[in-house]
Amino acid sequence: MPRVKGLRERLRDNENIICAEGYMRELERRGYVQYGPNTPEVVLEYPDQVRSLHQEFVLAGSDVVEAFTYYGHRAKMRLIGRESDLERLNRSALRIAREVADQTGTLMAGNICNTCVYDPKDKSTFGPVKKMFEEQIRWAVGEGADYIIAETFSDFGEAKLALEAIQEVGKGLPAVVTLTAYCPDVTTDDIPIEEALRQLEILGADVVGLNCGRGPETMMPLLKKARKICKGPLAALPVPFRTSDKEITFQALKDPVSGAPAHPLDIDCCRCSRSDVRRFAKEARALGVQYVGLCCGSSSNMLREVAQEYGRTPAAGVYAPDMDKCTLAQARTAHVQKRQFFAYSRVYNIAT
Ligand SMILES: [Zn+2]
Repeated sequence: MPRVKGLRERLRDNENIICAEGYMRELERRGYVQYGPNTPEVVLEYPDQVRSLHQEFVLAGSDVVEAFTYYGHRAKMRLIGRESDLERLNRSALRIAREVADQTGTLMAGNICNTCVYDPKDKSTFGPVKKMFEEQIRWAVGEGADYIIAETFSDFGEAKLALEAIQEVGKGLPAVVTLTAYCPDVTTDDIPIEEALRQLEILGADVVGLNCGRGPETMMPLLKKARKICKGPLAALPVPFRTSDKEITFQALKDPVSGAPAHPLDIDCCRCSRSDVRRFAKEARALGVQYVGLCCGSSSNMLREVAQEYGRTPAAGVYAPDMDKCTLAQARTAHVQKRQFFAYSRVYNIAT
């Protein structure tokens, strides 16, 4: 039995679910993850950092604590020479997440993702991929996950294997399956994204949708297409980066000043503003996106914007901006007014 109202019950009652993602990139920004492998050893090396980020996201409005096992699968752990730590890492991540979820009355989600091994043209990869999913799902069940998130699949076939694995060894836990859409609106095994989502829904996923890859501007048109043909709950967790018709994914973004490719190391110069994130959340809510959040590039202040736009009053809302209390906005003395002029004149052309 779930310790709090379960995912299926919330969906059935037409409640929205706010879900924080993007742990890997945020922990990299804080100095605890290495770009390149992008693996979650921080779970073992600095568990307090992971715990703290979970707590931060919950305070910002997340209803879910997603165990940080992203790329914590056998193939990646083998790549970094730590396959022997696989189970310990997964169980530790799940226990940290369970602990925070119990403390905060939120849901705990186990997590599986694309394996980097799956090849739709090579059937011999299917078995090992499914086994990798199964072992992670079994650990998640064992550590008390409330549901399983299967994310960032660009191949429909791999997402389908993940869903099957959840259904076969997940002891009935709900499944949230999200695809990552790259530049064309088709999966990398050539199925239109919205049709792939509909198929996953028919196959029994509780929530289907999109995460990662695209920013708000380029994810939204695809969500609208999906909303037309998907019948059930839809998920949207874009990356908070300024993707556009010319640069559809965040991997394609260029530094607006130098014109050089920005991804992955210089991507911060293309971040969305709070207003961008607010606009996205407003549109998503109007579209009926029931499961919402942000992926790579997210931070707790940005997630709080999403939560507030969805009508929530998260605990960290007390730290939401209040610009009336800004020294420059006050500007009651002539000298502070001079400082206001110096600071803003180029933008607002404040007269002396
Ligand atoms: Zn992401």
